[in-house]
Amino acid sequence: MKISKFEGTITKRSQTQSFEYPYFRHTLKTAETILKQYWGFPSFRPLQKAIIDRVLAGEDVLALLPTGGGKSLCYQVPAMVKEGLTIVVSPLIALMKDQVARLKAIGISADAIYSGMDASEIDRLLDNARFGHTRLLYLSPERLNNPMFQERVTSMPVSLLAIDEAHCISQWGHDFRPSYLEVGALRELFPSVPLLALTASATKEVTAEILALLKIKDSAVVRDSFGRENLNYHVIRRADQLQYVERLLRKSKGSTIIYARHRRKCVELADWLMAKGIHAAAYHGGMAMMDRDRIQEAWVRGEKQVMVATNAFGMGVDKSDVRLVIHYDLPAGIEEYYQEAGRAGRDGKPAYCLIVINDAAQDTLIKKTEQSYPEIELIKQIYASLHIYLDTAVGSGLDETFDFDLESFAARFNYRVIEAYTALKELARDGWIAIDETVLKGSRVQIITDTETLQTGLETDPTMDQLMKALLRGYEGLWSSMVRIREDKIAKHLHWDAREVKRLLTRLKALELIDYRESTERSQVTLLRERVPLINFTIDEINYKFRKERAFARMKSMIDYLADEVECREVFIRQYFNESDALPCGHCDRCLNDQTGNDLALNSVYKALADKNGITIKDFLAEYQTEQQPFVKKELRQLSDERKIKIVEDKIYRNS
Ligand code: ADP
Ligand code: MG
Repeated sequence: MKISKFEGTITKRSQTQSFEYPYFRHTLKTAETILKQYWGFPSFRPLQKAIIDRVLAGEDVLALLPTGGGKSLCYQVPAMVKEGLTIVVSPLIALMKDQVARLKAIGISADAIYSGMDASEIDRLLDNARFGHTRLLYLSPERLNNPMFQERVTSMPVSLLAIDEAHCISQWGHDFRPSYLEVGALRELFPSVPLLALTASATKEVTAEILALLKIKDSAVVRDSFGRENLNYHVIRRADQLQYVERLLRKSKGSTIIYARHRRKCVELADWLMAKGIHAAAYHGGMAMMDRDRIQEAWVRGEKQVMVATNAFGMGVDKSDVRLVIHYDLPAGIEEYYQEAGRAGRDGKPAYCLIVINDAAQDTLIKKTEQSYPEIELIKQIYASLHIYLDTAVGSGLDETFDFDLESFAARFNYRVIEAYTALKELARDGWIAIDETVLKGSRVQIITDTETLQTGLETDPTMDQLMKALLRGYEGLWSSMVRIREDKIAKHLHWDAREVKRLLTRLKALELIDYRESTERSQVTLLRERVPLINFTIDEINYKFRKERAFARMKSMIDYLADEVECREVFIRQYFNESDALPCGHCDRCLNDQTGNDLALNSVYKALADKNGITIKDFLAEYQTEQQPFVKKELRQLSDERKIKIVEDKIYRNS
């Protein structure tokens, strides 16, 4: 373990608020007791303790901890120690819902308020927070600027403000959200209540901006080092990307995450690996929460070795023995890369973070970044289309919530789905709309049996057989994950009635050949402003351009990371996070390449020979680029001469 840095000193705040409400009947407990009682964890991690101590002493803190560092507990535990209510601001509705559900499951009274809830429900939750036993109230930031809301909040016994994912307040960060600026107003409502801001994005610019906007002192920063000495970073360029990954997975038996950029690619990759006998499963944001949970649990329990996922996977996932994280596509920037790669080796044992890409990867990333920042004219058009789609009149629509299907929207107005999606996100970011994607799910099907049983099951009924053939022809990934299907499309294809398709799918499900979830759920859009005539539609262009530039700068940092000129991958990452004192890790691909001589070959032979059954020379050489192979062969011979390894016929063995 590396030594963590503490910045600043502990100072007492002059003023702390105290409330005397009759319903505080619980006795005060220590943070440790709470941790054991509710979460069942034996102890805090070192920096959690430092942060919690400061918060309980009434200080403001900016906590910079890497992903998975355990930031949630830093406010959840104080919320249970302190009297009164903790307000948590969080950017994603799905994340809020998830946290509230987890808290409720362990017996802690928590609620979330976000756009799209109906007024009476909000009213009830606000009353609970004022007069009830609510300990944590999660709020989405766009609520905060509503005067009525502010008034209600001011009358609550608030004893802690927690701002999760605080980098969202920064225009320098990778996830700026204008609505987060409202957090400043919340801060003013409770000038003497301690504030805890938390993030894993600790670049210099982001940190400075959070401190300034939330009026936190420099000395209030508690930061963990972003160095993780058990992580081995490698960048591997291979034209035979897929086969390389397959070979890698055959050798490394530990839990693995493969990150790919698109949902479809995840499904294809998982299918391919499954076909090769590797226990893989796909995971992406298009899957229903329940399916995602099911697959995640199978992976956490080790029943699935490999999770092939989009970046939707990982937040809040707790698996400490991940041995390998492979990036099959490039993430948008180093911050994202570090978060995802950092899910490896949380148990402190050696783990590998590999970027395995082909030559197209860089260009794809550039194209992707461009698509994420569509021309403003297009955003305008999509705003107009949205209102036609929702059928709102100019001057109306404020605070109304609508069911929304992205694909049919895009199809109707001839947009590419990605275009429509990014533009809508931009509208959300600019405060025009709020999108809740958690309820977005069409019907889904997965085959839950093997080929043989399926065939036998279908023999009895030609119509079911016909339907299954249509499914298999029309959709990929049915064997490994819940796949979104459209009953109406299948029906059209077969010249059947959609009801017939649904009936037969239900039968197949009853026969336990498939899993089938018919869905009535939809995603929802809430209008946060009334419809304006197009000439009055503006988005903050200066801001938009600024963010676009920043996005390209972050992309460039990702590309720079790949370069052979990088001295040490870890040093690169830590410098990116503003740690100037980082020393070369000694075990990334760059550091290893610098150590000429036997160590490289010996280490990798021993690694390859972990199972002690030997490995063929051919398989071993396949790990190296063609031009490196003669050099590696020479080294193998030398190692054999030195009796460090044995070569018998075409196989290499350890000499121990
Ligand atoms: P972050 O928000 O920093 O990414 P989380 O708060 O989601 O991290 O925590 C990551 C995981 O670590 C969670 O599953 C959590 O239960 C676990 N965790 C946090 N603190 C502790 C602790 N003191 N002991 C054991 N597990 C912990
Ligand atoms: Mg978190």
